[in-house]
Amino acid sequence: MTQAQDLQGREQEIAANLAAVEERISAACAAAGRKRGDVTLIVVTKTYPASDVRILSGLGVRHVAENRDQDAAPKAAACSDLPLTWHFVGQLQTNKVRSVVGYADVVQSVDRARLVTALSKEAVRAERELGCLIQVAFDADVEEGAGRGDRGGVGPGGVEELAGLVAEAPGLRLDGLMTVAPLTGTYAGRQQAAFERLMDLSTHLRVAHPAANMVSAGMSSDLEQAVAAGATHVRVGTAVLGVRPGLG
Ligand SMILES: *Cc1c(COP(=O)(O)O)cnc(C)c1O
Repeated sequence: MTQAQDLQGREQEIAANLAAVEERISAACAAAGRKRGDVTLIVVTKTYPASDVRILSGLGVRHVAENRDQDAAPKAAACSDLPLTWHFVGQLQTNKVRSVVGYADVVQSVDRARLVTALSKEAVRAERELGCLIQVAFDADVEEGAGRGDRGGVGPGGVEELAGLVAEAPGLRLDGLMTVAPLTGTYAGRQQAAFERLMDLSTHLRVAHPAANMVSAGMSSDLEQAVAAGATHVRVGTAVLGVRPGLG
């Protein structure tokens, strides 16, 4: 096969997957009595090439997400001509913050004060306004406290303080909350309960921060539960692009 035929085959594959995911989101919205327009699809493009991002953009996708700066930075640079909003959803070390602020529009994984300070400093330096979501962890070892989860995130008890720091930090905009369904603890295997808990935290957060109304929850395997719970953004990788080789 020629390269052009390869790309065309890949485009057809992604288009079919995207249509199936669209169908799932629409059905979940209908079941929950929500409007389709109330839920935004973010396609998680981690481990997949810039050519896939370009195909997604051509198919009308407007939000993409990445979780590793090393992978994301060159991809975002190669796709800088596309009308895309870039979300960073991975655990973020402070030494990667300068790079991430160079291309990310929203960082969904804000989970500690030191990261807020670093993001603020670099956003100001770059003269950008960066959207921030507080990542909430519901794992066994955090539960209701303010500790940090295995895959990042602050416990529910730490959300309010961190949100206050983001809201006051120059260069940052507090957009809302994000979670990844936990594998351990009282919420393990109970994704919808975890997402409903995130919605409760969001309702509470919006009393002090009315504009922070993004609720990012749900992936390929549990987007229906997230939509049922009230998520405004779902982050879908595998169901659109295929099973990732190795970890990711
Ligand atoms: C990889 C990833 C996703 C997408 O997961 P899939 O199961 O591939 O849909 C969503 N959120 C985060 C934070 C991720 O790292």
